Amino acid sequence: MSKVRTRFAPSPTGPLHMGGVRTALYCYLFAKKHGGDFLLRIEDTDQTRYVEGAEDYILESLKWCGIIPNEGFGIGGDFGPYRQSDRKEIYRKYADQLIESGHAYYAFDTSEELEQMRERLVKEGAADRQYNAISRLTMKNSLTLSADEVQEHLAKGLPYVIRLKVPGKEEIHFDDLIRGSIVVQSSSLDDKVLFKSDGMPTYHLANVVDDHLMKITHVIRGEEWLPSAPTHILLYRFLGWEESRPEFAHLPLILKPDGNGKLSKRDGDRLGFPVFPLNWTDPETGNVSSGYREQGYFKGAFLNMLALLGWNPGDNQELFSLDELVEAFSFEKVNKAGAKFDPNKTKWFQEQYFRNTPNSELAELLLPLLKEEGIEQKHDYVDQVCGIMKERSTFVKDMLVGGIYLFKAPTEFDETTLRKKWKDETPAIMEELKATLNDVKEFKSQMIEDAFKAFIEVRGLGFGAVLPNFRLLVTGQGMGPSMFDICALLGKEEVLRRMDSGLEKFANA
Ligand code: GLU
Repeated sequence: MSKVRTRFAPSPTGPLHMGGVRTALYCYLFAKKHGGDFLLRIEDTDQTRYVEGAEDYILESLKWCGIIPNEGFGIGGDFGPYRQSDRKEIYRKYADQLIESGHAYYAFDTSEELEQMRERLVKEGAADRQYNAISRLTMKNSLTLSADEVQEHLAKGLPYVIRLKVPGKEEIHFDDLIRGSIVVQSSSLDDKVLFKSDGMPTYHLANVVDDHLMKITHVIRGEEWLPSAPTHILLYRFLGWEESRPEFAHLPLILKPDGNGKLSKRDGDRLGFPVFPLNWTDPETGNVSSGYREQGYFKGAFLNMLALLGWNPGDNQELFSLDELVEAFSFEKVNKAGAKFDPNKTKWFQEQYFRNTPNSELAELLLPLLKEEGIEQKHDYVDQVCGIMKERSTFVKDMLVGGIYLFKAPTEFDETTLRKKWKDETPAIMEELKATLNDVKEFKSQMIEDAFKAFIEVRGLGFGAVLPNFRLLVTGQGMGPSMFDICALLGKEEVLRRMDSGLEKFANA
């Protein structure tokens, strides 16, 4: 078998949707698994849909995710250029070849004439209202006009397109690596435009020509392209490339959380989750759509979530590194049915990755956020903060927001705790607790805990009468990680100081 070569072929029509990232990921996994190449090709034949900044966005998204093509747009390689508008000169010859072999034809119909055709077919109640083997005979094209007329039209420079001559009655068979064997009646296909008079090929021609010239062995793409596959099958045959035709794998759609239809940007806006890998600023409106990266997701979590959206490893394993995914991936385990996107599960992945990240790495990420807040702290201290906070956080910023008292004495105090727990006798108890803590020689978590427990036992007090108020004085909060860990980290002096100032504050309140 020839070397596996897959390609991700996005159109630069806007930001890359997470479904696009999943396609790129599967292309990458399959290529790596088989020791092959993964390419990036930009499909920009429809220049009217070109969006400024989209190509850079695609490159940056793949870079952030770590699914790096080893060949392609922005990278280089032996099969370039890798942007279709830069390959413009290549396609015409194949369109001409198809005309010569009788598999394509010139069509001169104006848009009004095409509209009239549609209206007429509607009136006649025709089942198919497309440009096809039947309707083409009533239109203005090189199959109905004489050779002289065609030459005349061309010489005059009348606008034309080149259309594929789809056989009237034929069964088109092909295998899909995910969907199995597929049969389509050619009568259901229309005579797709392959080439436009502006000198640009359409998606169909450019896609097939490029996949052939770039020696692509596996075309892996979203299910929305399945209806185009029979047209592509015909093109491979008509161009004489059937022997080396790539295999197809059409990936299941990513569905809305309730399963009703394809996941769209609007669902994200409505339900409050990103559908894009990175923030995207619309060049026309200036509106910003949020991305997973900027929300604080780790790329590993994002990729792991995407990998399992439509693929399963066949057992219960859920956490996979990129290398493990390469190892485990296969098309047999890609589902045919659409995959429901689950924002909570996405968060769950992030939490797993977060907790599995060493404290020192989390500290590296937290330090710049602290700096922005004007907080200077030693790496070692921040390491320990991460150790205490990571179990209760999903993102790096949560450690700052949730654990701010580990960096600054509280200035605000949880109202509910104050109302429910702070009693007349509390100040006296806290004064005594202070004295007890002051006597703790080695101010470590376990010693503080022992002293605290002995303290409440001797006085016949419950945890609930002492701990919440103690926490309130030291952290300002009603809940949080172990108070003993917090105290050990803050140190005796700071804990006692905070107790003093809190007591003073409440006494004067
Ligand atoms: N250019 C198509 C897209 O934007 C790619 C289809 C394919 O991979 O063949 O999704």
